[in-house]
Amino acid sequence: MIYLAQPQVGSEEKKALAKVVDSRVLASGREVSEFEALFAAYLGLKPSQAVASSNGTTSLHAALAPLGLKKGDEVLTTPFTFIATSNSVLHAGAKPVFADVDPETWNLSPQAVRKVLDKRGRKVKAILAVHLFGHPADVHALGDLCKKKGLALVEDCAQAHGAAGGERRVGSFGRTASFSFYATKNLPCGEGGMVLAHSEKEAAFIRSFVNHGRGPTGHEVVGYNYRLNNLAAAVGLCQLKKLEKLNQARRRNAALYQRLLRDVPGLTLPVERSGYHHVYHQFTVLAPDRDALSAELRKRGVDSKPFYPRVIPQEPCYKAMGYGRESYPVAENATAHCLSLPVHPGVSEKQVRFIATAIREILAK
Ligand SMILES: *Cc1c(COP(=O)(O)O)cnc(C)c1O
Repeated sequence: MIYLAQPQVGSEEKKALAKVVDSRVLASGREVSEFEALFAAYLGLKPSQAVASSNGTTSLHAALAPLGLKKGDEVLTTPFTFIATSNSVLHAGAKPVFADVDPETWNLSPQAVRKVLDKRGRKVKAILAVHLFGHPADVHALGDLCKKKGLALVEDCAQAHGAAGGERRVGSFGRTASFSFYATKNLPCGEGGMVLAHSEKEAAFIRSFVNHGRGPTGHEVVGYNYRLNNLAAAVGLCQLKKLEKLNQARRRNAALYQRLLRDVPGLTLPVERSGYHHVYHQFTVLAPDRDALSAELRKRGVDSKPFYPRVIPQEPCYKAMGYGRESYPVAENATAHCLSLPVHPGVSEKQVRFIATAIREILAK
């Protein structure tokens, strides 16, 4: 089976883990601090601006925490993402509202965002942008919009470690940003996350928030235990060193898919918009009958999945909250036809060729 995801871990990670075990410091320690510092540096930020957390969902909650959202406040986000994105808005005590996506990048469409902002007025306090599948959201237009309207831009970078808009890596654009290091992401450490904050004050607040609200005078806010542990951080440090190389392998596989699948009728391929650096967390195509294509690929030993099969407002738990009556035509079309193909660094050139040939054969039938 050619899997959709497979962390590239081995002897270096084993050695790093053994070192943590030998040190007997299993919870927060040197590895966590070093991971924070080096990850911040990778994004061009200072060590104090990064706070490690237990996963990408807790880091999203922590990234929203300094905004001081209250009941009735709204956060605008994309309906075409992993459910943790909008759930984190609910965890932070606010209400997620959605705007449709761009037909090429499947990220928040600035025009659609403008329309929703005009309609919702001052209830919206922040835009939570996702860099879906590793392609940066339109950080420039969304950033300008936030500045003009006095909103906070928060980035969900769970799928976009190393992606960039212009000269800057994602995670450095927003007032705060969140990463996930879940086992299938571009930078995996099992379970883990990282919060970035632009202001030192907000970074300090987040550091306290993920650690029971601890501060100089005692427990200053009712916080959480969202800490990362030293074992995960040790793996994260190994993976951070390899991130650029691993992303390059993803980009090589994606470029080969592009070459081999360019002229297949009915198939829509992902794009890399000029001025952006795509890191291909997923290589997602739109196909006429994606369920049939996926089933046929499975028969040939190729794993593929529809990321994502439903827009968030159509998920049962959102429908139960009264969502699901509005429509998001571009996002809904994507959910109906999307299929993600194996593109991770463990997929060889030969395997990409095999998968592309299989797709051609299946779609020609
Ligand atoms: C994976 C992911 C998350 C959540 O990260 P976890 O570490 O699994 O909690 C949030 N947002 C997006 C877009 C993701 O892909």
